[in-house]
Amino acid sequence: MFINGEWIDAQSGATFEVINPATGEVIGTVPDGGAADAEAAIAAADAAFGAWSSTTAFKRADILMRAWNLMNERAEDLARLMVTEQGKPLKAATFEVGYAADFIRWFAEEGRRLSGEWLPSARPDQRFLSVRQPIGVVAAVTPWNYPISMLTRKMAPALAAGCTLVLKPAEATPLCAKAVFEIFAEAGVPPGVINLVTAADPVPIGDVLTSDSRVGKLTFTGSTAVGRTLAAKAGASLQRVSVELGGHAPFIVYPDADPENAAKGAAALKFLNAGQACISPNRLYVHRDAADAFVNMLTKRVSGLVTGNGMDDDVGVGPLVDSRAVDKVAAQVDDARSKGAGVPVGGQRLTENGLDRGFFYAPTVLTDVTPEMIVYREETFGPVAPVVIYDDVDEVVELANDTHYGLAAYVYTDSMRTAITAFEKLRFGIIGINDVNPTSATVPFGGMKDSGLGREGGHEGLDEYLETKVAGISLR
Ligand code: NAD
Repeated sequence: MFINGEWIDAQSGATFEVINPATGEVIGTVPDGGAADAEAAIAAADAAFGAWSSTTAFKRADILMRAWNLMNERAEDLARLMVTEQGKPLKAATFEVGYAADFIRWFAEEGRRLSGEWLPSARPDQRFLSVRQPIGVVAAVTPWNYPISMLTRKMAPALAAGCTLVLKPAEATPLCAKAVFEIFAEAGVPPGVINLVTAADPVPIGDVLTSDSRVGKLTFTGSTAVGRTLAAKAGASLQRVSVELGGHAPFIVYPDADPENAAKGAAALKFLNAGQACISPNRLYVHRDAADAFVNMLTKRVSGLVTGNGMDDDVGVGPLVDSRAVDKVAAQVDDARSKGAGVPVGGQRLTENGLDRGFFYAPTVLTDVTPEMIVYREETFGPVAPVVIYDDVDEVVELANDTHYGLAAYVYTDSMRTAITAFEKLRFGIIGINDVNPTSATVPFGGMKDSGLGREGGHEGLDEYLETKVAGISLR
């Protein structure tokens, strides 16, 4: 763990193993921290806050830019580490490192533009000045599916704003977190400003982070269930809260869209990270007129995907995170099949050619999916593309909105009018319009409804770490 600028063991001396999900091999051991370690990390972050928050934004930006450079220099090593620890194919891991680095540069620049306002008063002899100041010590909890970019999306704005932080990464991916912390430390972030607590059991750490009065803000990315629990605890402590949670993205293919083009987009998007993405489409609404062409092309594309160890050149789909994830996917597919879904490709665990040592499920297409099936409502987080046929274009947005999630949605259409109407009516925070990658460090990322509170990235990403202070100034 990294506390107060030093790499240390857990106070208990305990450790836990990190597993390669493609091979089941142990690839490292890390300290298994507990409540006392979390408290020590908060104490270090609290002690470092005064100096870091009064360091100039220019100096903080310089340090962040050094971190950006280091991350780019080490991109290949980081990507390889990510493949062995998390499983996504090397090309996707390399892309993620670039995306992660983008947040560092973006927030280094945004931090330099932090300004206040000179505001009018109703009284002629009074003026107001408002400034935005760092919120204090930030507690960050991150998921395993994007084990580098989900850290920089929080660390970069927190540091640019002048906050200090304690971060707990997912238990499946502590080595990527360690590599990110090494970069920030080497770039010159002073001791105590960033602290890393690794743990096999997240609960005691979460309890400390959300109840300590020295923590000003909780930022969490992960499942809706855990986010709700942590947000409630943090809320009781009156911490500021932002939570980036699960999704169940609709992908609407209108009858005027080229169905084959849309199917190619769906195939590229759905199987990224083996479907383990919060913005992964989970309901593909295809108009009846386009259904045959769409399903044929989707099935063809999915049949051509090679599943295996992400280190191998031709592999496009890696393993799932663990055996529970495979069981969840299998249960959703079996449920859909038993309720009448077609399975033109996939539909089984993969165990041949050594894949039984890892956690693999075949890229799968489900057809004739209906609302009674579990997959229609619950986040799958696996390589399954459920196709739902619809007839009425005036109703499809309503169908798409019929979920408690609200993170991402996708629309394929050739009509500007249809695209804009759908954009305005869909209750989701991120809409791809004929576009399967509607994300960037430069734009806000986040969800409505049970997909979260707050936004990361863009201008808003910095605001999450700031609070406003006002001075009323009398001229009398
Ligand atoms: P998860 O909720 O199981 O875990 C996320 C983090 O919370 C991990 O660090 C974990 O150790 C920690 N955690 C779990 N239980 C805890 C507890 N009781 N107290 C404190 N910490 C606890 O989620 P996951 O499986 O790691 O990630 C997958 C989920 O994350 C999916 O639902 C996905 O949609 C979501 N996600 C959302 C976004 C987004 O930006 N909206 C991005 C990536 C992933």
